Amino acid sequence: MLKIDIHTHILPKTWPNLREKYGYGGFVSLDHHKCGCARMMVDEQFFREIDHNCWDPKVRLDDCKKHHVDVQVLSTVPVMFNYWAKPKDTLDLSMYLNDHIAGIVNDHPKRFIGLGTLPMQSPDLAIKELERCMKIGLAGIQIGSHINEWNLDQKELFPIFEAAQDLGAAVFVHPWDMMAKEKMPKYWLPWLVGMPAESSLAICSMIFGGVLQRLPKLKIAFAHGGGSFPSTIGRIEHGFNVRPDLCAVDCSINPRDFLPQIYLDSLVHDELALKYLVDLMGPDNIALGTDYPFPLGELAPGKLIENSQFSDDIKEKLLHGSALKWLGLSKEQFL
Ligand SMILES: [Zn+2]
Repeated sequence: MLKIDIHTHILPKTWPNLREKYGYGGFVSLDHHKCGCARMMVDEQFFREIDHNCWDPKVRLDDCKKHHVDVQVLSTVPVMFNYWAKPKDTLDLSMYLNDHIAGIVNDHPKRFIGLGTLPMQSPDLAIKELERCMKIGLAGIQIGSHINEWNLDQKELFPIFEAAQDLGAAVFVHPWDMMAKEKMPKYWLPWLVGMPAESSLAICSMIFGGVLQRLPKLKIAFAHGGGSFPSTIGRIEHGFNVRPDLCAVDCSINPRDFLPQIYLDSLVHDELALKYLVDLMGPDNIALGTDYPFPLGELAPGKLIENSQFSDDIKEKLLHGSALKWLGLSKEQFL
C-alpha cells in the first residue's frame, strides 16, 4: 500500500555563516563535529544533535526502504523559520532552504514532495516567495503556529492564506516557539505540554478569526494530530455556545462545523487517540505524519496505522489518500 509521510524535516548539510552574512546573531548553524553527526547551534548554544538522515537524501531513502515509506513530504525544521529576523534576511534564508528542498524533489520526484518556508512576518515578501515556491515545484508551505506576536487570525496574515488558497498551495502548520516555555524548564515540557497547546492555539485562531470561513478551499493541515484541539473540541464548542460575546465576535459559525476543512497528521502515539481522531475528523482528513527524523516522532513510520483495527479502505486513506487530497496530487505520480 502506497505510504506517504506528510510530516518530515530536512536541512541542507551546510549553509553560509549567517552571522557574517546578515551582521547579527541568533541564527542556527551546524557543527559537523564527527562523521554522520552534527550539532545544531544557536550562536554558541547547543540546540539539538542531528544525524546524517537529517540532511542526506540517500540515507533518508534507505530508511524509507526499511519502513516501506514510498514518499516523504519535506519541510524545514521549525527553528529555521527565523520570523524574528529582519524580513529581507528571513526571505534570503527561506529562498536558500526552499531551493535546497526543490532540488531534492527535482532529483527524486517520485520519492519526495516539498513544502517551503516563508518570511511570514512580512506578508508582501511572504506572498512573493510563496508564488516562487509553487513555480520551483514545491507543493505548498510549512508555517509556525504563531508568527512572533501574531496569532494566525491576525489580519496582516490573511492575504498569505488567501494567496495559498488561490495558488492551491497546501499549508502545514507546525507548533514552535512554545507558549509559557519560561514556566517549563524541566522534563521537556515545552515539547510535551507547550506543543499540543500551540497547535490548538493555531486551529482555534483560524476558526474563531473567520479565516476558515472566508477561505473554504484553503488546504490546511496541522501537526501532531492537532495537538490538544481534538480532545477539547467539546469544550471549545460549549464555550462558543455559552459565551458568544467572547467567542463569536469574528465568526458566528459553530467551530465544529469547520472540522471537514481541516487535515491532521496521525502523530499521536496511541491507538485509542488515533481511533478518536478518525471518528471525529473522518478518515479523509487524517494523514500519516511521523516527524522523521526526530525522536519524538513515530520511530517505525506508519506502524500505528498499520497495526490498527481499521479496514484496508480506511488504512489506505490514512497512509496516502488523505495526503494526496490535501496536497492536490494524484497517486499515479508516485507509482
Ligand atoms: Zn515536526
